[in-house]
Amino acid sequence: MNRTSRLNCIIPPHLLKRLLESEDSEVRQAALDTMLTTARLRGERAVRASLAGPTATATGNGRRTVFDCDHGSFLASAALARSEDGPASADDSANRAFDGLGLTRDFYREVFQRDSIDDHGMRLDGYVHFSVKFNNAFWDGRQMVFGDGDGKMLGDLTRSLDVIAHELTHGVTEHTAGLAYHNQSGALNESISDVFGSLVKQWSLKQSAEEADWLIGADVWTPGIDADALRSMKAPGHAYDNALFGKDPQPDRMSKFVHLPDTEEGDSGGVHFNSGIPNKAFYLAAVGIGGFAWEGAGPVWYEALKASSAETQFQDFADTTFQKAGDLFGVGSVEQSAVLAAWQEVEIPIRGVPTGVARARSLAAAAGNGGVSRQDGLAALTRQVGELSAKMTRLAKEVAALKETG
Ligand SMILES: [Zn+2]
Repeated sequence: MNRTSRLNCIIPPHLLKRLLESEDSEVRQAALDTMLTTARLRGERAVRASLAGPTATATGNGRRTVFDCDHGSFLASAALARSEDGPASADDSANRAFDGLGLTRDFYREVFQRDSIDDHGMRLDGYVHFSVKFNNAFWDGRQMVFGDGDGKMLGDLTRSLDVIAHELTHGVTEHTAGLAYHNQSGALNESISDVFGSLVKQWSLKQSAEEADWLIGADVWTPGIDADALRSMKAPGHAYDNALFGKDPQPDRMSKFVHLPDTEEGDSGGVHFNSGIPNKAFYLAAVGIGGFAWEGAGPVWYEALKASSAETQFQDFADTTFQKAGDLFGVGSVEQSAVLAAWQEVEIPIRGVPTGVARARSLAAAAGNGGVSRQDGLAALTRQVGELSAKMTRLAKEVAALKETG
């Protein structure tokens, strides 16, 4: 896989395209400039990659350095704004980028004992005030670059911690499963970035799964724009619905899967569309388990990510999370039952689990969702299993007794 030729941008192409249709010429111009600059960077990276081969990753104990592009679009001419041990910058964007890189790095270190993005202390470089009215933020495999937004639609992209964590998680995925960025594996790649992007935000705010907003990019729009966020993991398809961008196109279950061509025009097979399905599964699993999502569903997804590969599909990933939940928390545990029920809800039933068991377990987990204690539902289920096994033991003894007398 070529790790150096792709840019991961937070604002999906279908939203930028809508901005090109705006009645405001300044908005149209900013959207066009953003798309042209991004295309130029993509081209440059592709050429560089084909000439030089993969770039070695810079190591450095996860040390952060933030540079100020001062509205230029050549990273090499950016000036140092803040370094790991240096004083705070006078520039808010530089400080926010610095903090966001640090919180993401610390989350991975403290929660998953992961040493920076590549697990080998990769240094974290950030560039702020990139280009003019640049409506995006991206990770290019080596550094994180932030635009200021056009100020009319999109604001300064350093303001969203989940955006920073989303982008850096693309790096984590590259260094683990390497999920190919197209079709289902690409939608999983996008979903993984939303999952851990949201978890970094929840972790920094010490929010439980119930308290979290489960929105991605809640702070990217300017205050005047009628939209909650870029995406909603809790309610895919409902992050926005307005005249400017239309309705959020994300599906929340397999029967609504969006079939798009594997082209740039088709969002590489709808990677920013269909990520809604695994996003919803994660949300359901996290809420089904309850408490802090980075302690329950988070580790399950992280282990499943590490066990995945480039062409992993939704079904494979779902099956792996079920298995990992069993490994981490025990077969038949609350956690594993919640994972099972979550995937069933988005119409990806786990393979190899008899439907009766799946139904019973999902009922038990649903009892937890509905306010009735999940523990009660599970306790009832466990009791039934206990009674059944006691019956079996009695029966076995009777058979043995019969044999002896016979
Ligand atoms: Zn992304």
